[in-house]
Amino acid sequence: MGERGRTQRGAAATRAVRAGIGVDEGHRAVVPPLHLSANFVFDAPGVCGTYDYSRTANPTRDLLAEAVADAEGGAGAVITATGMAAVTVVTHLLRPGDVLLAPHDCYGGCHRLFSAESRRVGFDVVFLDQGSEESFEVARGLRPRIVWLESPSNPLLRVTDLARWSALAREAGALSVADNTFLSPANQRPLDLGADLVVHSTTKFINGHSDVVGGAVVAKDAARAEELAWWANCLGLTGSPFDAYLTLRGLRTLHARSAVHERNALAVVELLTRHPAVARVHHPSLPGHPGHEVARRQQNGWGSLVSFELAGGRATIDPFLEALRHFTLAESLGGVESLVAHPATMTHASMDAEARRVAGIGDGLLRLSVGIEEGADLVADLEHALERVKEAACVAV
Ligand SMILES: *Cc1c(COP(=O)(O)O)cnc(C)c1O
Repeated sequence: MGERGRTQRGAAATRAVRAGIGVDEGHRAVVPPLHLSANFVFDAPGVCGTYDYSRTANPTRDLLAEAVADAEGGAGAVITATGMAAVTVVTHLLRPGDVLLAPHDCYGGCHRLFSAESRRVGFDVVFLDQGSEESFEVARGLRPRIVWLESPSNPLLRVTDLARWSALAREAGALSVADNTFLSPANQRPLDLGADLVVHSTTKFINGHSDVVGGAVVAKDAARAEELAWWANCLGLTGSPFDAYLTLRGLRTLHARSAVHERNALAVVELLTRHPAVARVHHPSLPGHPGHEVARRQQNGWGSLVSFELAGGRATIDPFLEALRHFTLAESLGGVESLVAHPATMTHASMDAEARRVAGIGDGLLRLSVGIEEGADLVADLEHALERVKEAACVAV
């Protein structure tokens, strides 16, 4: 990251910490209060203040929307009940006959939603390998309405050139939408790279404590943000005030957490790349990783998702997991606590074995969400578990 990136990130960190602090006029509370009220008092029939009903707008949720929009450098944001609700709002910009281009390895829930909605609504969804030159040429010819982007990908952390694909969208008169869940605005700002919209599962890094399910759409343009807010209210997809309160609390520490996540992830990558029980490591920081040079350019940080293949394959997965103490076996990611997932039987179990093979998701693959525990503890824990499977492999031989 250059000097400019560092300054920009520092300013964003300060604004995230200070969002809504010390502005309460009711009781001069330092921390903005939580407004749970479903409805607001009218002055006279048909005459109300800023708020009337909390599905439409709520002060606590608005504060989070402003803070998330600010973190991404957007003009406005819509806060939704889940990440998938955020994706749903965006798909409502599509009309019958439109073309949606999406990465073939996008988040599984998005793949399912796009496929089901394309059949119901009558738009076309075309899934492409956005890492291939051939796909880029094909995409140009398809006259898309929306170009969906997600980088890095799940679980192999392949990096897509967001600026290049956003430019393709712009030339085609399409909207580019980047799912920035895996890096968060602390590590990547797609709007700065030319995207029109950013989508988040705030469930992950933005809330960061694995205790809220939520989502957000950020728009570069204020009119677009209003259009999306109209749809979110119409469809009833807006998030609860309580969830917004917790998520804003999480966002305040996003930048500080990200620095520890990254430091720990790099220490874990260093261990995994030198350990003989590991066949392969996937992380954007590694020279030779698909898109490493692009990541160096477009990301402000490497991110804390790390995937790797155990040399002993499926047979060594169970003993390895049993030996771990500081990594919990669970789906999801981005919380303060470290997690480990086995994509073939967990996050990617709905793909058949052949589709997983084509996608490069082997039975020996594990995905780590590296948390903010003491880095040395995480490294020691993994090293201990790797030594166990190394011994097991030796005994078997
Ligand atoms: C989790 C996730 C989603 C969906 O978000 P939910 O909050 O689970 O609805 C979308 N995209 C990505 C990349 C995710 O990781």
